[in-house]
Amino acid sequence: MHSFKIALISPKGPLYRHRTGIFRKDLRAAPLTLTTLAALVPNTLGAEVKIYDEGIEDLPANIDADLIGMTVITGSAPRSYELAEKFRNQGKTVILGGPHVTLLAEEAKKHADSIVTGYAEESWPELLYDFQNQNLKKHYVMSASFSLEKKENLPFPKRELLRQKSYKTLNTFEATRGCIHNCEFCVVPVAWGRRPFQKPIEHIVEDIKQRKAKQVLFYDLNLIADKEYAKELFKALIPLKIYWVGLSTTLIGRDDELFELLVRSGCKGLLIGFESISKTTLRSTKKSFNDPDGYSELIRKLRNVGIIINGTFVFGNDDDDISTFDAVRDFVIENKIGLPRFSILTPFPGTPLFQRLEKENRIIDRDWSKYDGQHIVFQPKQMTPDQLQFGHERVWKEVYSIKGIGKRAIGNFTSIFPIVLAANSAYRYYANNLSKFYTCRGGIV
Ligand code: SF4
Repeated sequence: MHSFKIALISPKGPLYRHRTGIFRKDLRAAPLTLTTLAALVPNTLGAEVKIYDEGIEDLPANIDADLIGMTVITGSAPRSYELAEKFRNQGKTVILGGPHVTLLAEEAKKHADSIVTGYAEESWPELLYDFQNQNLKKHYVMSASFSLEKKENLPFPKRELLRQKSYKTLNTFEATRGCIHNCEFCVVPVAWGRRPFQKPIEHIVEDIKQRKAKQVLFYDLNLIADKEYAKELFKALIPLKIYWVGLSTTLIGRDDELFELLVRSGCKGLLIGFESISKTTLRSTKKSFNDPDGYSELIRKLRNVGIIINGTFVFGNDDDDISTFDAVRDFVIENKIGLPRFSILTPFPGTPLFQRLEKENRIIDRDWSKYDGQHIVFQPKQMTPDQLQFGHERVWKEVYSIKGIGKRAIGNFTSIFPIVLAANSAYRYYANNLSKFYTCRGGIV
């Protein structure tokens, strides 16, 4: 085979989908997976590459491609498998990769001509050459020596292949991957281990400069996992005079030098996984580095320097009962968290949480499409699934009521207040439409 056509697809999930989804544009930033994979296609192949994000567009009735690659998370796995079957019946070659495939390789293999597990920087080009030579292997595995420091693993993402108008921003970047922590519910350490992968800082700076980006979003799961690296990165961002938002843990408040550099680097918003206000829960889920006694002080400290908090909380832990909903709602409003988010505990397959609940016979639904953080797929300990579902939905609605937004907005009048207000409006829409997606009642006991 000579040159060929590649289509890269991010299949839709229950909530993130075109038309019927509840993620409005203000909550949609350009994904990096497909644009990175597109950039990794070797020029020597002469291949034509197209990208489809089903979260923002319908797929064409007929995709003109020889090889189709899909990135799969657990919530989109059933849709990915459905599409894979359709494309394979049309004679196309289907490749699956992504976190769900990495965690459940044997399941994914049944639906694909080949799968890629782990990060694909090295295996994806190898796979493409094999495809061209009609020598495709069934499984491509990330090598033990994989590194994001190698120049050949670091092309700039091909953001120009995305439908730009459908995203709030195309200026999304990533400096690191992975996380050093080991939270019981988290997919990251199980899928990719606890070794942080880091890109050379000059590479990130160059990417930002090339895009002339002034407002930047970092997708890194935990930007401060390696504090020394984070300090060097923040120092390098200072001269760029950008605003940026990203993800951190609560540990950001415990290192004065790191905190000062964070502020000077232009940070204006941080997503922080508070998860719970119960020490028992945090201990049992192996996230005890979060200390609820210090939450209010950290939130105040960040607000004082104009950093908006996207604070996330989880409902359904074993220590949670029906009083937890009001307690978390009051905490969020009293502490004026700018952009709070709530999810239902989800035992993603492969995680220690899944294994524990499986052992306790508490997994009640194995429809992966409901593994999206907003459906109940397990038997909670101290409430019924209905109580968990409605309590969670009620908190979303109350925190994003006009009154709730008003109370939280006071104290969040920062330079990015208009962006925060737009995001609050988008989350209000999300909160008020969440119940449309509670299609799981058949499985609830
Ligand atoms: S700190 Fe965050 S990214 Fe790291 S393991 Fe815990 S939940 Fe996952």
